[in-house]
Amino acid sequence: MTCPYLNYQQSDEEHEFENDRPYCTVADSFVSPMQADICNDRHNFDHTSDCEKFPDDEALPDDGALDGEDAPPDDGRVHADPSE
Ligand code: SF4
Repeated sequence: MTCPYLNYQQSDEEHEFENDRPYCTVADSFVSPMQADICNDRHNFDHTSDCEKFPDDEALPDDGALDGEDAPPDDGRVHADPSE
């Protein structure tokens, strides 16, 4: 999946190109071809975890931990794994 903050455009306030180039709307700047691989999740990259500009509050936790309705209650007790 492509990062929702990636645009393709020919210019910004400081640059103008003949063709569309990858542009990050978080950083408000054009991105390098290598960074665009991350933005587009090419070569097994994941923009949510491999891009340092991607907003942290939208990234999945590195440990894959569940939160929200799928997470066990955070009540201080150890909950048994029903698969065991
Ligand atoms: S640089 Fe990061 S935040 Fe910006 S478009 Fe690419 S993946 Fe998204």
